[in-house]
Amino acid sequence: AALYRINGWGAPYFSVNSSGNVTVRPHGSGTMNHQEIDLLKVVKKASDPRSSGGLDLPLPLIIRFPDVLKNRLESIQSAFNCAVESQGYGSHYQGVYPVKCNQDRFVVEDIVKFGSSFRFGLEAGSKPELLLAMSCLCKGSSESLLICNGFKDAEYISLALIARKLSLNTVIVLEQEEELDSVIDMSRKLGVLPVVGVRAKLRTKHSGHFGSTSGEKGKFGLTTTQILRVVKKLEKCGMLDCLQLLHFHIGSQIPSTDLLADGVGEAAQIYSELVRLGASMKVIDIGGGLGIDYDGSKSTDSDVSVGYTLEEYAAAVVQAVKFVCDRKSVKHPVICSESGRAIVSHHSILIFEAVSSSKYTVPTLSSVDVKQCGERLPEEAQSDYHNLSQSAIRGDYESCLAYADQLKQRCVEKFKDGTLDMEQLASVDGLCDLVAKTIGVSDPVNTYHINLSVFTSVPDFWGIGQLFPIIPIHRLEEFPNKKGVLSDLTCDSDGKINKFIGGESSLPLHELEGENSKYYLGMFLGGAYEEALGGLHNLFGGPSVIRVSQIDGPHGFAVTRAVPGPSCSDVLRAMNHEPEVMFETLKHRIEEYVHDEGGMAGALMAGGIAESFHNMPYLTVGSSCCLTAAN
Ligand code: PLP
Repeated sequence: AALYRINGWGAPYFSVNSSGNVTVRPHGSGTMNHQEIDLLKVVKKASDPRSSGGLDLPLPLIIRFPDVLKNRLESIQSAFNCAVESQGYGSHYQGVYPVKCNQDRFVVEDIVKFGSSFRFGLEAGSKPELLLAMSCLCKGSSESLLICNGFKDAEYISLALIARKLSLNTVIVLEQEEELDSVIDMSRKLGVLPVVGVRAKLRTKHSGHFGSTSGEKGKFGLTTTQILRVVKKLEKCGMLDCLQLLHFHIGSQIPSTDLLADGVGEAAQIYSELVRLGASMKVIDIGGGLGIDYDGSKSTDSDVSVGYTLEEYAAAVVQAVKFVCDRKSVKHPVICSESGRAIVSHHSILIFEAVSSSKYTVPTLSSVDVKQCGERLPEEAQSDYHNLSQSAIRGDYESCLAYADQLKQRCVEKFKDGTLDMEQLASVDGLCDLVAKTIGVSDPVNTYHINLSVFTSVPDFWGIGQLFPIIPIHRLEEFPNKKGVLSDLTCDSDGKINKFIGGESSLPLHELEGENSKYYLGMFLGGAYEEALGGLHNLFGGPSVIRVSQIDGPHGFAVTRAVPGPSCSDVLRAMNHEPEVMFETLKHRIEEYVHDEGGMAGALMAGGIAESFHNMPYLTVGSSCCLTAAN
């Protein structure tokens, strides 16, 4: 566990039991009386029909723990409640979940259900997200906020106004000044008074990767001048009391409470000014930014870590708002935040399998081989070979490496112009590997082939280099004596994971034990963004998904929902193909072939094709043998 820093990034949900398996404590640390869930047992139950009550879902697999979502929501709420109480703050915290972080129906419904007792709401950034939020919140509390962010056309604005008519606590947050005209116009037409917010472009700038939305030149929000024009226009229309919320978002993964307090303090000044100008301000919405410690380092200068706890985050926000409002004698506003990453990251785990590894093989050249290699080299390469041998005799390893490099380059050139044969080139490669190995500079990193598409399931690694904790979920009682990088099933050279938390370029892994033993890896903390961003590169679809709840009983868990990932037909349909027509065409070709050539039974061929359309694009059980050939 120490090798993989689980205690750093996994607490309080993940740890390792005495059998060496990763365990899950979905209710966090507060529920010691619950049995921990053994993740390997969950994977077996989902994917191995031979295990008792086992399902037959293909991997990769997303395991969702709704209880973790509940614990995250309760922890955030309780951190703010504590800060409000201990600082004597005169209002309350009321968060919203930005559905863009994971729009899965069950995730959103769970959040609405678990958060309804403390008026937790939703944030939408587009029309479909708004439709989704409207229908989910209809079942929840009417006090919960429904924040409408993002660029808006007239249809978006009219939807948001209809939501208000349906008694949802909808706030239209102006992202561009021009949206105001539509809001005024549509609200008159629909006969509904809007509640309006403005998104401010703060001067405070978050300098990390996720900070490009912040600062004066940031992508979103209204400048001070634009906010003043909005106030004037609303005043002129007699609608200034509709302006009730100030929003800002300085970027995801805010690294420190210093930066946070700086941004919140600046926003609180704008909020107080809006009060002074006559708006009926009620809510300060601090956006997202509550970060996740992906590598467990608690560092403030990295995109994959944050230097604060939930409690410290909440305390810094409450203190910064209170300080400004008290100085300006402004009534304390409701504090809203739009934390998505911090709510959904922990609740899902992506499980995939390492199906083969290309082993690093130490060259075994005898002294005779080495001598023969030298003798068979073309004349131009002889001097490099001679220099290499001489420096090896002298023990001058630096020169050895330089000459080996020179020799290799020259021989590759010779091979390219056709004057060196394949056997000669292979023996030079072997000689150079032997030199590197003898000198101790070779790095025996194995490539583990994983049943996954990086583009579909870990798009942020490919797109922005985001690191996630990836670890074997079993055999952790055994020291992993290999180093590996992970190579996915796509035929794209970017489809590999070769950077890991802690700045490592390889992952400690165990030796694969042969065809009948599975080696499962888990990617943790990927519940936010990854599912929504993943595409269909190489037509690999999403993973299978199960929901797991903690219960009393022998295993301590129950699978409450299981959905296989999309089939080949499904992903083809997503790109406008018609699998049924494709199948008929292929069947017709088979019939023609059988008619002309005889031989292999047509029914068998058609059956094979039909099965492929029906199965998931990933490796189906038993087909991993085709990859072991890569060894
Ligand atoms: N609110 C807005 C306006 C955002 O743009 C984002 C994400 O970028 C969020 C909330 C979610 O932030 P986080 O990822 O920090 O939870």
